[in-house]
Amino acid sequence: MVKQTIQIFARLKPTKKQTAEYFVDCEEQSGSLEFVVPRDLADGVINNKRENYKFRFQKVFDQTASQEEIFEAIAKPVADNVLAGYNGTIFAYGQTGSGKTFTITGGAENYNDRGIIPRTLSYLYQHFSKDSSMIYTTHISYLEIYNETGYDLLNPQHEASRLEDLPKVTIMEDPDQNIHLKNLSLQQSTNEEEALDLLFLGDTNRMIAETPMNQASTRSHCIFTIHLCSKELGSAMVRCSKLHLVDLAGSERVGKTGVGGQILTEAKYINLSLHYLEQVIIALSEKNRSHIPYRNSMMTSVLRDSLGGNCMTTMIAAVSVEKRNTGESISTCRFAQRVALIKNDALLNEELDPALLIVRLKKEIQSLKEELALVTGEQRSDKLTQEEIQQLEEQIDVYLEDPDSEVTLNLGPDMRKIHFCFSLLKVRVREGSCAQNGMSKDSTPLMSVSDEEQRKSYAEVQKLRDMLTHRDNEISVLVNLLKKEKKKFQDVTSQLPLLYPSTNQSSMSATTKQMEESAKYNPSNIYTHAEQLMTRKRVLELSVSQQEAFEVFLRDHEDRLSIENNRAVLQQRFVEAKTLGDQVNQIRIRVNELKTNLKIRRKQMAAQGLAGHLTASESDSVEERILNQIEDEKKNYKIKSGCLKGLKTEIEHLQLLHEKLKVKLQMDFENWWTQEGARLKCHSAENTGSSQSHVSPLSCILTRALPPAECSFSSIPLTGDKQTDDDIEAFIRDRHNLLNGTASCGGIP
Ligand code: ADP
Ligand code: MG
Repeated sequence: MVKQTIQIFARLKPTKKQTAEYFVDCEEQSGSLEFVVPRDLADGVINNKRENYKFRFQKVFDQTASQEEIFEAIAKPVADNVLAGYNGTIFAYGQTGSGKTFTITGGAENYNDRGIIPRTLSYLYQHFSKDSSMIYTTHISYLEIYNETGYDLLNPQHEASRLEDLPKVTIMEDPDQNIHLKNLSLQQSTNEEEALDLLFLGDTNRMIAETPMNQASTRSHCIFTIHLCSKELGSAMVRCSKLHLVDLAGSERVGKTGVGGQILTEAKYINLSLHYLEQVIIALSEKNRSHIPYRNSMMTSVLRDSLGGNCMTTMIAAVSVEKRNTGESISTCRFAQRVALIKNDALLNEELDPALLIVRLKKEIQSLKEELALVTGEQRSDKLTQEEIQQLEEQIDVYLEDPDSEVTLNLGPDMRKIHFCFSLLKVRVREGSCAQNGMSKDSTPLMSVSDEEQRKSYAEVQKLRDMLTHRDNEISVLVNLLKKEKKKFQDVTSQLPLLYPSTNQSSMSATTKQMEESAKYNPSNIYTHAEQLMTRKRVLELSVSQQEAFEVFLRDHEDRLSIENNRAVLQQRFVEAKTLGDQVNQIRIRVNELKTNLKIRRKQMAAQGLAGHLTASESDSVEERILNQIEDEKKNYKIKSGCLKGLKTEIEHLQLLHEKLKVKLQMDFENWWTQEGARLKCHSAENTGSSQSHVSPLSCILTRALPPAECSFSSIPLTGDKQTDDDIEAFIRDRHNLLNGTASCGGIP
């Protein structure tokens, strides 16, 4: 067991605006962040005295810190612990806009802006591929908590257009106080690509579900969980651990924002759930507190393990140093200081794999049987033979008839014989007492039945009893089978509940079982769904006027540059990948040529050697040269194919970012179009008959193409440079061929 306090880090978001006066102190093992604030007196007189607020952190990352640095310092140690079998959690806390999502998931524009989730996935899968001594299984879940209700962001059967369309996740607690999340799907991901697809699917669902009126993401908590199980080859021990990567809702106080209605309700919920988080944290930091109020909110229930439980937990305080945010920044840092007081006990989550245990026990029984047979000199079956039974019955008769009370019954070291004799004796004793009772009742002398007949009927009874026991066993086996099948059926029809046990040892086998069950989902379905989500809005064509309007809209959109840059980078990477692919193929061809040369050379040498024309030293030098060349080419091949693999990951990531931006743009256009349409309708109702000369060109287009009320923007032609997009898609389609081409170089000597 490892006892550790929650690690706290601070990250300052870069800004060009005026900042508060602050100082960052960074030493090797610890850092501090200090704000200097002028003291504002109540009567409005500014006192020249200033107030200092200094906070200690494990480390403070100033504005220039890169995503790579954040991953290396914060996430990598946690990922290593998760690989070793401990649970881990990283959560980002801070006001809206302070960089939580950027830190946890990453920016949507740049490959280098990848956040902790994609980098951790990459790190884990790289580790798996290097470590061939272990078998790893990974599952992913992605939960969003909004207004105290949980939603499954990964459900492939749902195409969400509103958050409410996603399956609702509910919490259940069993008698052992383990938390179970009903309706949260666990999706298996066998490689980095599948895991990234799941992240993308969840993020897209999250994005589509919100509108400008309802920026749910800043007011919801998101928990991306990697469930990892590892087992050494041939071992019966399984290690299962979980890594929660949590993007909390904005921590700003509601009073300041001055909002009302729906947003106020949401704000109350968020403040309430963050308030409960704080209460849990305060309770945990107080010694002698027996009750921790985890149950007050869904988030604290789900994160129960991570807060004061079996987990290594890290908090990132996302801080905006802009002057106007000083108050919130100080409150974020204060919160972090309280969090740092909590101690967690991380346990190694190890358990025996039941299936392997059975195999092992069966083997042990077999070897013990063999050992026994060796000692006793007898081969044993489970049942006594007819001959043995007869012998025993005779032995018992002799034993019972012998008047000598010292006489013994010698059965040898065989428990089957001992059991049989005891039951036979029991039958005899009961028969004896029956006979006595019978005599007294109807005076029928039972003793008149001959010994031989009696013995036969005892044997018969015994046989029937054996049969009965045998049948009973069969029936109970069948009933168990039936129950199992029924349960399987129920499990498949109802959504699999996800377990979040607070005591891992007791509930680990349930988790493993559930993972096996959920592994039955075909991961390719998810991929297809992710693709569907990406392309679903492209199905219908826009009208000409809508296209015109869209072009005007796109010209001024904030993301236009990002999309163009992204496309340019993609194109460049694609060309690089193509060149690299060609080079790798060239190397393969050269190696094959060299191999052929080597063969020819060896044949020649053999022929000349036979004729006695050549000396050994001459033959060595030529062959050595060819071998060296092959060796050099192989090294070159390794480097180039490694680069190609990296490039492939980057291209795939860029593609996902690109698609994400497209979906966002599409949604923005959709909202803008509806709003403009409504506004124009109002406007024309007010000014019927008046000239439209003051209306902008955009409005003209809109007037011509006012959308019908049910107008659906299922398609936007965002592929400004169609050739590039086609090229990229073709590349992605062919990437396997490309890599298979390189993989077939496995034949290199
Ligand atoms: P939050 O999730 O806390 O509300 P975001 O992560 O969405 O905040 O950040 C708000 C904006 O600031 C986003 O546009 C994001 O890309 C940008 N941003 C945040 N942190 C950084 C950073 N370290 N470097 C560059 N841009 C950042
Ligand atoms: Mg956010």
